[in-house]
Amino acid sequence: MKILFFKIKRFITSFPYHFKKMRIKAVYDADLKNLVKSLGLDMGIENGEYKCKYCGTIISFENLQAILKENSEIKFICSNFECLSKIS
Ligand SMILES: [Zn+2]
Repeated sequence: MKILFFKIKRFITSFPYHFKKMRIKAVYDADLKNLVKSLGLDMGIENGEYKCKYCGTIISFENLQAILKENSEIKFICSNFECLSKIS
């Protein structure tokens, strides 16, 4: 099962249909950083260790849009519109 964390305001306005269709566990923008910290991923992001699952852009707190859990692996999605539209 996938678990997704989004900067929710932007996602709802961009993809209202997805939002109805998917089961999303959402956090507000301000909470995303805390969530990342609680997962122990904040240092990796600050050091530029993670890349967007789709386009390979280095993930930062500025462009981080979603966190996706696939099996036990954490993946990051950047705020690129094309990458967001690939989430299904
Ligand atoms: Zn991307």
